[in-house]
Amino acid sequence: MIDQGYQNFKDVFISESPVDISEDKIRQLYAFMIEMKKTNAHVNLTRIVDDRDFIEKHLLDAVTCPLKAEAHEILDVGSGGGIPGVPLAICHPDKHFTLLDSTGKKMKAVEEIVNAIGLKNVSFLIGRAEDYGKKDQYREQFDGVCARAVAAFNVLDELCAPFLKVGGTFYAWKGQQAKAEIEEAGNGLSRLGLGSIRITQNLILKKAAFHVIIQCDKIGSTPKKYPRNYGRIIKKPLA
Ligand code: SAM
Repeated sequence: MIDQGYQNFKDVFISESPVDISEDKIRQLYAFMIEMKKTNAHVNLTRIVDDRDFIEKHLLDAVTCPLKAEAHEILDVGSGGGIPGVPLAICHPDKHFTLLDSTGKKMKAVEEIVNAIGLKNVSFLIGRAEDYGKKDQYREQFDGVCARAVAAFNVLDELCAPFLKVGGTFYAWKGQQAKAEIEEAGNGLSRLGLGSIRITQNLILKKAAFHVIIQCDKIGSTPKKYPRNYGRIIKKPLA
């Protein structure tokens, strides 16, 4: 029997996607959306529930991230309902994704969704980024760190840089103010070991919000004194 819901989803996905994604992955992205909507009835994971909006604002916004081919270990900081980490994990089965969020309820709900759709390349961490970033087990262990809708760029850089290996890349999803946020972050970026900053246009779809991805490379080790505790980061962001 034809699953009309999936057919409609696939048609919209293919017509809107600027990247080629195989049918088995589109099917898994659909399963993710269905499970996320079911879970959303009892755990607040997203406000976006219309299928087209979900495709544009969650799925395509995530999967168009230009992860490097050689990157293997990717961390999603402040993953919430699993975005961008889960859609990226579906599209890159060769890479391993760690989803980190301070809200245990959300991470446990996303773990159940990930199990339900049979995704094997995802692990979960519950807690604060600034705490995990100090631990040897996680510090400078990742080839890529992603973050969407978590904090201002001059706060996010200090939360994320410690996790990156030298040579790794930091991807921050931002809106219209991306350039102003980079200026605010100023020399803080180089103090954290970040450099080679560039902005790539992510998506300007018919109904989707304007999003860019700020990318920076880790060009030197992050000094041990970073990340500071959250209160200090917020009170006096590096500049
Ligand atoms: N990235 C998801 C998205 O784009 O849909 C979720 C964004 S949600 C607005 C922000 C998430 O970041 C929340 O789930 C919150 O718990 C988490 N968060 C904020 N600061 C954090 C920190 N310092 N460490 C870990 N998680 C954090």
